[in-house]
Amino acid sequence: MSRCQQCEREMTTNELGISLRLMGRDGKILLCRECLAARLQVPPETIDKKIEQFKNQGCPLFV
Ligand SMILES: [Zn+2]
Repeated sequence: MSRCQQCEREMTTNELGISLRLMGRDGKILLCRECLAARLQVPPETIDKKIEQFKNQGCPLFV
């Protein structure tokens, strides 16, 4: 199970997926939904929307 590098919370599969898509596929930066939103200076709902978007595109990183 991956943990957020900032708050050390366990990340869900979709959180891991969106972190890889937005912060780089090498996984050097792993952030949960909230920390990702804070880093990108967007509301967490924007992260949810992006997860939905990638999921609908059939991206295998999302469930
Ligand atoms: Zn976090």
